[in-house]
Amino acid sequence: MIWLLFLSLLDPRYHTAGEVAYELDSIARDHSNITRLDTIGYSSFDSVPLFALKISDNPLENEDEPEILYIGCHHAEEILGIEICMYMISELTSKYTTDPTINDWVNNREIWFVPLMNPDGHSVVMAPPETTWRDTTWRDNKRDNNNNGFFELAYDGVDLNRNYDFYWTEGGSTDPSSEFYKGPYSFSENETRAIRDLALANNFTFCITYHSARYGLTEVVYFPWDWEGGYSPDFPCIRTIADSISKRIIKDSGIGYYTALPGQGLDGRARNWLYGVCGIFTYCIEVGTTTIPPGWMVDDICQRNLPGAYYLLERVSESGISGCIYDSLTGEPLSAEIIIHSYYDPNLPPRRSDSKYGRFLRMLKPGTYDIEIRKTGYVSVHFNDMQIIEGQMNEFDILMARTGGELPAVIPQKKIKVRPNPSSNYVLIEMDDGMELTSLSVYDVTGRLVKNFQNPDRTMFWQGLDEQNREVAEGIYWLLGKNDDNQTVQKIVLIRSSVNR
Ligand SMILES: [Zn+2]
Repeated sequence: MIWLLFLSLLDPRYHTAGEVAYELDSIARDHSNITRLDTIGYSSFDSVPLFALKISDNPLENEDEPEILYIGCHHAEEILGIEICMYMISELTSKYTTDPTINDWVNNREIWFVPLMNPDGHSVVMAPPETTWRDTTWRDNKRDNNNNGFFELAYDGVDLNRNYDFYWTEGGSTDPSSEFYKGPYSFSENETRAIRDLALANNFTFCITYHSARYGLTEVVYFPWDWEGGYSPDFPCIRTIADSISKRIIKDSGIGYYTALPGQGLDGRARNWLYGVCGIFTYCIEVGTTTIPPGWMVDDICQRNLPGAYYLLERVSESGISGCIYDSLTGEPLSAEIIIHSYYDPNLPPRRSDSKYGRFLRMLKPGTYDIEIRKTGYVSVHFNDMQIIEGQMNEFDILMARTGGELPAVIPQKKIKVRPNPSSNYVLIEMDDGMELTSLSVYDVTGRLVKNFQNPDRTMFWQGLDEQNREVAEGIYWLLGKNDDNQTVQKIVLIRSSVNR
């Protein structure tokens, strides 16, 4: 009898809510230099704390660093996401001093985890076998839908992944006894409000929400969105990144990789709200081939998922644009709207730089973009045909002038100075003190290599000639400098003035 009871418990490899809390607390105390444990809310029924752990150097400060969020367990029975988050937390903190890659991520990113978003529902799944309200297929939280003061499997609970305020009316069920019940109104649940407030208070570039499907396809990376023939505005870039995540995660079978698919339907799900409202590129990963696999498989599933999760920590500094926006008179950081013209939907909330640093960070595919920086009361700043090179973060700061004031200006890139710029006959290229480059090249706006400088010096001239010493055409060029751990891009505007010919 005792043996039978023991068999029907979930494998002890799976964390209980108490074990999650205990482990987060010990990790936060053992690694207080790089962690901050926050309570971001309390669960809707049992009022237990909803924990978020931030991993970064100077964890108490909101530094000017890219931010990434990982969430586990929207759906109570989809417990693999908790394990992946806890595995990652353990690895990032324990290898911080020994693994240079992890050290770099922790020092230069703000990495957030909400491993167990739905502790109430999770307690239904993890309850001892004799408990009358135990259900290992429970999906929802424990909202008391019929207001009778206690929790019942037949009537209660809200599907947290249908409760977000983005096309909330379109999805889920209005029947409180349905496991897809969307709640009485959007953001009716403490759990979804906690995620909302965390997302609005920070400046996340990426998010992964982990699921493990009981319905539908398994081993899939879903991304926003393909809805009634309409794609999310950043679709081409979001899809490319989803492909890169999925092809880094080996399937349970050991053969092949996860599949990236656009999410169908806009219906109160986390990924669509996080992307649609906050602009966060959010991926919903359906982990594993069964919702709750045997305990011995868990470590292996976590390990196979890590490359997909870690890819985002790298991607955040690759192809895209980044910089800070300031008021040209006061130097104050500005929260301004960044419009990428080919990736723009005027019906979505504006994508803004943050107000603390004026920082913008947008992921882009390699290509040519028209970019506009807009703020009421300021002269808009336009960049036409900005070239994004594979793997390069195009960094530039922007000064915005109040309307009626001086013209806007772009602050020169800090690591390489180019002058005069625009230039009519030669360009003087100077590197900042301490900057050593292993290569320096000029590309045209189509990404074609025009000129490669061998063994670049601190100071050099480019006379507007290509490798065959032919004069290149008037126009915009990109100077790309690289060394072992850095790359920097500077724009050169070349004007062919008749006076100099
Ligand atoms: Zn799910």
